[in-house]
Amino acid sequence: MDSTTRDALLARIRFYRDLGLTEFYRRPVSAELAAQLAAEPEVAAQPQPTPAPSLETHEPQSNFTLQPEAPQEDHAIPPRKPIQAALQIGIEVPAAQRAAALELIREEIGDCTRCALHTGRHKIVFGDGDAAARLLFVGEGPGADEDAQGIPFVGKAGQLLNNMINAMGLKREQVYIANVVKCRPPANRTPEPDEANTCSPFLFRQIDVVRPEVIVALGATAATYLLGQRQPLAGLRGRVHSFRGTKLIITYHPAYLLRDPRQKKEAWADLQIAMRELGLKPPQKG
Ligand code: SF4
Repeated sequence: MDSTTRDALLARIRFYRDLGLTEFYRRPVSAELAAQLAAEPEVAAQPQPTPAPSLETHEPQSNFTLQPEAPQEDHAIPPRKPIQAALQIGIEVPAAQRAAALELIREEIGDCTRCALHTGRHKIVFGDGDAAARLLFVGEGPGADEDAQGIPFVGKAGQLLNNMINAMGLKREQVYIANVVKCRPPANRTPEPDEANTCSPFLFRQIDVVRPEVIVALGATAATYLLGQRQPLAGLRGRVHSFRGTKLIITYHPAYLLRDPRQKKEAWADLQIAMRELGLKPPQKG
């Protein structure tokens, strides 16, 4: 494989890994295509320059010691950028003072230019909802509607999130909603680690102030920066994790559910775990 193809392949594998996809398989090749590929002439090997003679003296073979093998993946794919360690958990704020405490965090953010996302945003999307909520949702970052209004989850995905909250027997005003990054990434791309690591401490402080009983992470990016590690979403769903002493449940992002509504059943199962932890029962129909 030539170096250009290899680099492109590695970049693609990194991209999939950042999405939480780590298992790959070879698509079966039809006999017709296999015969066609076999019939194509191989690219002639490029002449390689003669290696320069080594100037190092070689130790006698008897002094040779076995070294443990380095992990193969580190040779193939450079290590991921580290995910920032979480801050220490803040002191508990009395419920009556939580709205004011959130306002102080918002003031500290100010007209933020701490990361590159500030260049394309219209409005900082800080958070929305009850400052003393029992349930807190964390998404990835603002989209176009949120960027225009300065409120999280107000577009189509927001409408679906509202429906999910209502199905749990709650109103949107009773929960708190925030994102990993507070400014819209260009073309709704996934936030870069530098951006998420710069912005997420503000989210952690919001969580410390609200001090919910349950957090629901919406999608792989929220799960990654709350757990501090990347793992496939499928392996994280369906159970209760812990984040800064709070129960954490992980489910699909509503935008993903809009693209693949078949997964709504799975998301509802995750929300039922949150309801069980909160002692909630779904509203009676009719
Ligand atoms: S995403 Fe967060 S850290 Fe980056 S500019 Fe916006 S508010 Fe500041």
